[in-house]
Amino acid sequence: MDLKSLIRDIPDFPKPGIVFRDITTLLRNPEGLRYTIDAMYEQVAPLSVDYVVGIESRGFMFGTPLACKLDAGFVPARKPGKLPAAVHSVEYQLEYGTDRLELHQDAFHPSCRVLVVDDVIATGGTAAATAQLVEQTGCDLVGFGFIIELTGLEGRKNLPEEVPIVSLIQY
Ligand code: IMP
Repeated sequence: MDLKSLIRDIPDFPKPGIVFRDITTLLRNPEGLRYTIDAMYEQVAPLSVDYVVGIESRGFMFGTPLACKLDAGFVPARKPGKLPAAVHSVEYQLEYGTDRLELHQDAFHPSCRVLVVDDVIATGGTAAATAQLVEQTGCDLVGFGFIIELTGLEGRKNLPEEVPIVSLIQY
């Protein structure tokens, strides 16, 4: 299936000069959505994943059905102040300023295998911060799964070298 044809390009969003890859047009397409989850599943199933970590918020949309298919649990990595119990927290750089992601400290059982999922990898800062959160829990980060990779930004260079990266669509 031509997944790219289901992604809508929005010029100048969220600011002038940026082409935003809009995945809502993929999500609303039943065959496209099923194909996306199945295609990601095929590539990450060999990693023997115990938990999928989805990054707020579009990582939730793909991470949860994927976790279900993998027979794994789903754990959200969230923006600050959203998770109710004790958290690990990592600050990361944005183009202007910083942001922060949090993960429940008790989200995983010891020595489990974790896959991090998001819709898009751009500079890789968000996924790298999530990788640090997983490392703080002491669990094994066994892979990253992205629907879209913006290859020009070389985000994968910011991720741990030894961890496999799956992306379904490249721009
Ligand atoms: P990074 O930290 O620069 O890799 O940016 C990745 C984060 O920004 C992800 O959580 C994405 O959801 C979001 N993002 C960046 N560019 C796009 C885009 O073109 N479409 C949708 N989300 C994007």
